Amino acid sequence: MTVEMTGKEVANKLIDEMERDLADLSTKNITPHLAIVRVGDDPGSVAYENGLKKRFREIGLRVDSYTYATDIEETEFLTEFDKINENDDIHGVLVLRPLADHLDTNKVSERINPLKDVDGMSPTNLGKIMLNDEDGLISATPAGVMKLLDFYDVELEGQDVVIIGHSEVVGKPLSILLLNKNATVAVTHIYSKHTKEMASQADILITATGAAGLVTADYVKEGAIVIDVGISRIKGKIYGDVEYEEVAEKAGQITPVPGGVGAVTTSMLASNVIKATKLLQEK
Ligand code: NAD
Repeated sequence: MTVEMTGKEVANKLIDEMERDLADLSTKNITPHLAIVRVGDDPGSVAYENGLKKRFREIGLRVDSYTYATDIEETEFLTEFDKINENDDIHGVLVLRPLADHLDTNKVSERINPLKDVDGMSPTNLGKIMLNDEDGLISATPAGVMKLLDFYDVELEGQDVVIIGHSEVVGKPLSILLLNKNATVAVTHIYSKHTKEMASQADILITATGAAGLVTADYVKEGAIVIDVGISRIKGKIYGDVEYEEVAEKAGQITPVPGGVGAVTTSMLASNVIKATKLLQEK
């Protein structure tokens, strides 16, 4: 029988862990404070930001938005960004990507204080993943996928994992996190020639493309674990990368969309803000 791996219980466990830290920080009169930096009004980013604010305030975190017009000049944007980055009252900085085309994301990644880098975008935090150094801050989505796999006791050592999608935010860091657990990892993407053949041999298939319905039953080995990170909004409805009904019949365990990885990501990000607050205290 197929087991549905829902994210809610994983998120609840994270929230329980956070409550202890929040209580501890509150004895020192500290409320973790996140700054969300956004350029422009991309509807997806605005919806994500509003959802985050609501959830974070429920958890007991402070969150403020710093929003800039799409035509802001790069020097002005970086000056504003530096002020946020250097503000001692702010413990975490989340930069919503993509920024505007004329703004170089790498310049921001290189400037962000690694101790406040709650989306793990800085070279320091990305490097710490390579070094298997758990002190670093890891982007909430790959960190959330690892939490979900751990919660459902998924064995990783020696398992064949295929990740579809090689972005800086999801696929690349996730591939290293899985290698750190001694999985055998292959990453495919839009230019790969044999995605379906490779996917169909995987013990664990993770897809993060945004191509709704890409993963059909013929991409999946009988009994495999299927993790769907993809989110596509089509005519107001949310779809994952996986054709859920037909794949669920074949998979051993599978995450739904919505209610799977996405349900863990927000809590994982909140957990990163608390971790950043503690890292700054220890500094
Ligand atoms: P991205 O656009 O940066 O990267 C997409 C990746 O998928 C690329 O590697 C691309 O080559 C690959 N790809 C696209 N179409 C493909 C196809 N037809 N076949 C094979 N590979 C293909 O996107 P991203 O930021 O990594 O996000 C990926 C998806 O995950 C999106 O749907 C996004 O909304 C979703 N996402 C979900 C969460 C969450 O919390 N669940 C968080 C972040 C992103």
